[in-house]
Amino acid sequence: MSGTALLLDQLTRSGLRVTAPRRAVAGLIATRSGHFTAADLAADARGRQLAIGRATIFRTLDAFVRLGGVERIDLPTGDHAYVRCEPSHHHHVVCSACGRTDKIEGCDIQAVVHEVAERTGYRVDGHRLELYGICPDCRAGAPAGTSARSDGVTA
Ligand SMILES: [Zn+2]
Ligand SMILES: [Zn+2]
Ligand SMILES: [Zn+2]
Repeated sequence: MSGTALLLDQLTRSGLRVTAPRRAVAGLIATRSGHFTAADLAADARGRQLAIGRATIFRTLDAFVRLGGVERIDLPTGDHAYVRCEPSHHHHVVCSACGRTDKIEGCDIQAVVHEVAERTGYRVDGHRLELYGICPDCRAGAPAGTSARSDGVTA
């Protein structure tokens, strides 16, 4: 199934209608590699002469985040971005130079979570964690920010 079809499938399985704007936003998301912002999608829409407003893009992104097909991630700059992903619990490593985002399989911080719970008395129900660094391409000296790789997101 294509990235677009996967996102639309999540909509229908959750009882949400596949409207023309939702289909268009799913198509824009599916062509993105690495992480992206709502403004990136708005620019893509303009470039393709699609009449989709910022508000629609935000609402549709929110819906996909709730359904788990898109995740919100925090960038080293403090900004938020989105990345297409599947609903299972996992983390990401984000390249600070080019924005490539890779999924980290599994979650190995249960010991830390347990210790924080003990120390603070909280019942810890969840967590978010992003790791930042320089990806193999950027470390090898590939020009940053010009990556045309389509495999930026492997998740
Ligand atoms: Zn993910
Ligand atoms: Zn990079
Ligand atoms: Zn985790």
